[in-house]
Amino acid sequence: VPATLIDGRAIAAELRAELSARGSHLRERGIVPRLVVGIVGEDAPSMAYVRSLVNAGKQTAIDVAVAALPGDATEAAVRAQLESLALDRSVHAVMLQQPLPAHLSIRAVAERIPPGKDVDCANPVNQGRLAFGSGAVFVPATPAAVMILLERSPAWPLRGKQCVIVGRSSVVGLPVALLIMRCDATITVTHSKTIDLRSHLGRADVVVAATGVPGMITGPMLRPGATVIDVGTSVVDGKMTGDVDFESAAEVAGAITPVPGGVGPVTNVALMRNVLAACERLSDGSA
Ligand code: NDP
Repeated sequence: VPATLIDGRAIAAELRAELSARGSHLRERGIVPRLVVGIVGEDAPSMAYVRSLVNAGKQTAIDVAVAALPGDATEAAVRAQLESLALDRSVHAVMLQQPLPAHLSIRAVAERIPPGKDVDCANPVNQGRLAFGSGAVFVPATPAAVMILLERSPAWPLRGKQCVIVGRSSVVGLPVALLIMRCDATITVTHSKTIDLRSHLGRADVVVAATGVPGMITGPMLRPGATVIDVGTSVVDGKMTGDVDFESAAEVAGAITPVPGGVGPVTNVALMRNVLAACERLSDGSA
């Protein structure tokens, strides 16, 4: 039986409608929810992502502004920009688009984004809260999207399930592992040094793939009926391609996200949800 498609576009549309109502409600109170996205240089995929955020903002009554710095901006200039956004009371949410140019490090500047405005969870304070479950304010957008998709999959609830995460990066694999562990699943985190990935995948009720290696996970590697969430986005022959070979995987999996149209659209909405939460907290004085 071919797998059920977990349709990220449809889920995103449903969530956008809810967010748009929240955004409009804030505007009726005279508050314009505002996200500023800092971008350093002109990395093409980053610029495309930022354009998609501006668009997502329009659909959810959020003002998304872009603060661009030249590619040779110094660390001091990036810090100064973040500090001024931190003080600006009309700005409720701030994120710094990654990847940064090679001479800059997110770690060196992220603490300048105040935790209450740090909607993509870059500040180490928010990362610590996320890791230790001590009142995380914001779940970063892509891991949040993975959880939203899992909540709507046949694998939910995850309690007791075997979940294999392929990839351990600090932006995707690691936070996804933390969030899934909190749902009482048993997790295995695999990476490029893992020996015999296939034996881990063969036991998995849930697979979350976040490697950036196109098509590396194929149907015969999966446990029949598994739920597969594909975070990977690589461009192959001009076509966006996931980490999972969709055609063969869909023959074995129980449910699967497509690429494109899976995690990506939900990621934008998850970020906008954080922006509204930041705005609501700041405007009712709870932040
Ligand atoms: P990174 O390159 O930071 O991390 C990749 C991870 O995959 C690493 O942990 C690496 O292992 C592991 N890995 C690489 N090759 C293999 C392999 N052959 N077998 C098992 N594990 C492997 O990437 P990101 O986490 O930033 O992104 C991953 C993918 O997700 C990319 O395609 C990216 O474009 C996409 N992405 C999509 C988003 C969305 O919203 N849809 C948002 C963010 C990312 P090791 O640690 O040993 O090097």
